[in-house]
Amino acid sequence: MKKLSSVTIGLGLLLAGGVQAQDAITYNDQQKLHDIADAVSAKRIEQDIRKLVSFGTRHTLSETESDTRGIGAARRWVYQEFQRISADCGGCLEVMYVSDIVEGEDRIPDATEVKSVIAIQRGSTDPDRYVMMSGDIDSRVSDVMDATSDAPGANDNASGVAGTLEAARVLSQYNFDGSIVYAALSGEEQGLFGGKILARKAKQNKWRIMAVLNNDMIGNIEGINGVINNTTARIFAEGTRMDETDREATMRRFYGGENDSPSRNVARYIDTMADRYIANLDTMIVYRLDRFGRGGHHRPFNDLGYPGVRIMETNENYNRQHQDLRTENGIEYGDTIEGVDFDYAAKLTALNAVSLAGMSWAPEPPQNVDIRGAVQPSTTLSWNDARGEENVMGYKVYWRLTSEPQWQWSRYVGDVNEYTLENVVIDNYIFGVASVSPDGFESPVVFPGPAGEFSIEFEDDTDDN
Ligand SMILES: [Zn+2]
Repeated sequence: MKKLSSVTIGLGLLLAGGVQAQDAITYNDQQKLHDIADAVSAKRIEQDIRKLVSFGTRHTLSETESDTRGIGAARRWVYQEFQRISADCGGCLEVMYVSDIVEGEDRIPDATEVKSVIAIQRGSTDPDRYVMMSGDIDSRVSDVMDATSDAPGANDNASGVAGTLEAARVLSQYNFDGSIVYAALSGEEQGLFGGKILARKAKQNKWRIMAVLNNDMIGNIEGINGVINNTTARIFAEGTRMDETDREATMRRFYGGENDSPSRNVARYIDTMADRYIANLDTMIVYRLDRFGRGGHHRPFNDLGYPGVRIMETNENYNRQHQDLRTENGIEYGDTIEGVDFDYAAKLTALNAVSLAGMSWAPEPPQNVDIRGAVQPSTTLSWNDARGEENVMGYKVYWRLTSEPQWQWSRYVGDVNEYTLENVVIDNYIFGVASVSPDGFESPVVFPGPAGEFSIEFEDDTDDN
């Protein structure tokens, strides 16, 4: 969305009959988020991308014994780097491998350990609530089964891993209410296996993940179509949730919600963060799960009901993705370091960092949000208390016209569980509720009903498959 210069944003008030000027969106400007954005270093991101490229190939089926080449050396380095970051914050990160054996798959025929590296920064008041930032550690060339040729994977996706490491460096200097997971996921190119393994583990362990920010290619600014631009980024977010039941789909037909999955409201949250805290960056929310017919590591989390989005460059260059290193008809192919703009990768990393920080200082998004008001001149929203009383100041109701991409109006309503907007007719707007911390950090907005619910249900007897 385009930036607006004033902190009070009055949008189309004349269009909204009955809506008063005090319902314009206001917010607390957070100095800490400006500090976090400023602390992200393009230089350190460059060093980490160069280090990851130096392993020659990081193909999932590449060798694991060498200390200098292959996926084994790469993931051991990421593990050590997380440990170094942890040493600088008094051991604030829990660093671990998350792995499983995969075999009998098209792209992993023989038994292979798919091993991701994660670090958890534990929250102080709500430690079982998580937000996550991820990148992919593996790389590939033209033949997806070629595990020996040089596959630098500088942009796809050393950029995402380097951004995740840098976000960990910056955010580990702060304490948050909720927990943050930093993940370098494996096996992406072979079929999203690292994400599937971690998502399954998360659900088995009843992790309340409120948002997965999957970063896959955050450094290319020269598009295949000739466009060169370092001021925009894309946020891909699915519109209806994958785990929706038939009954919920029927409810959605009557009550709406096809544009208000928790993933899409996470995307709106990040878009707002870009406007407020990241200079020269305008995000473009794309109303689809991912690029046309293509995949990314937020999907396995969406599959299990977790909110998640893909953050990436706006302008992709296919000559630099999944290509053997070569020159053909004067065109250079391959995902080399020359194709990465480090300042741009730092800008997208800063966007992740302020979004993770904002959500982790905010309370949990409200649960069981409900709405009523058919055939009356008012709309009533209700919700349950967000977990962790000491971090909840109150709640804020949001609404927008049904055809608008972003929330247009809001009203802080205090520490209540129900609020009626007088003379705001339910038929003409989309509504939601956010929770607000004592120092003014807000959760993403939650659309009423199962279509918009952030928390997921855990079965007591989750099977082990
Ligand atoms: Zn790729």
